[in-house]
Amino acid sequence: MTYSASTQYMLDTMKRLLATDSPTGFTRQATDLCAKEFEKLGIQASVTNKGCVLAELGGEGNPVIVTAHIDTLGGIVAEVKANGRLRISNLGGLKAVNCETENVRIYARNGKVYDGCLQLCNPSTHVNPKAGTEERNFDTTEIVIDEDVHTKEETLALGITNGCFVCFDPRTVITDSGYLKSRYLDDKLAAAVLFALAKKVQDGQLSLNRKVYLFLSTYEEVGHGGKAGLPGDAEEILAVDMGCVGIGLEGSERKVSICAKDAHGPYDYSVTDTLVGLAEKNGLNYAVDVYLNYSSDAQAAIAAGKDFRHALIGPGVYASHGYERSHVEGAENTLALLEAYLSE
Ligand SMILES: [Zn+2]
Repeated sequence: MTYSASTQYMLDTMKRLLATDSPTGFTRQATDLCAKEFEKLGIQASVTNKGCVLAELGGEGNPVIVTAHIDTLGGIVAEVKANGRLRISNLGGLKAVNCETENVRIYARNGKVYDGCLQLCNPSTHVNPKAGTEERNFDTTEIVIDEDVHTKEETLALGITNGCFVCFDPRTVITDSGYLKSRYLDDKLAAAVLFALAKKVQDGQLSLNRKVYLFLSTYEEVGHGGKAGLPGDAEEILAVDMGCVGIGLEGSERKVSICAKDAHGPYDYSVTDTLVGLAEKNGLNYAVDVYLNYSSDAQAAIAAGKDFRHALIGPGVYASHGYERSHVEGAENTLALLEAYLSE
């Protein structure tokens, strides 16, 4: 499939981000990648104490922050077991049923990175007749390290201790039909959309109607990504985060979703209404939905006491927080809505 230069850049950036491990709390590599990418685009960016990346895109008046998050779900070693394997604690909403048999990278404190896999304890079906029916949680599953270790001492000798981060293989696939399949499309797909927006501005293809900051946050998956480090003159925050797709919702992988309300309450009506009007006017494939089990960095900023108008849009993501699926068109519709909102 051949895409426009902008879409191709967005997909390439998404792939690079997805290939960079960044479970919430261990995001330094993704922060560095984003800071360098802004530098490459000729955009001034700074890194906050928490590792968020703040870039000034240009424009004048009515400053708005457009934010996406670069932290993901993952695991952290909670116990080095007597058999040398690892019990993990989940970071964010990771569920064992969604990552059983997935390959992982374990970042030891000595700087070494080891391979492993999350498996059910005693998973061989020829040995354990209940392997298919046992409950999956992080007590019934364990990380099997791909090293010759059989005792706690041997694993500790590798440098793997409690508190080491465990990163799941995103298993990124882009199909010929334009589907994007990967862990962590939430929210690296949206982060890539923000870079595509930035590139358009830098290439002179888009002139901004107001002052625009881009804020790539960390710690969104644990609720405080958008709570600090935001520019003082901003009056609005627009979160670009995954749109929900599922039973009872209008959103889909090909649409940009506009969220009217999530678990924390309604978004700003005037901004949401303007976004809906622009989606309609520009003939975009879009949906307006209410998300029951969801929060965003825009809500985090409001919870932190910011006097912002806040809104949330994003590409539809199916099977969220599992092996997720979206579509190139969903990302393109999201970019088109951002362009309309920030330039018309
Ligand atoms: Zn998200």
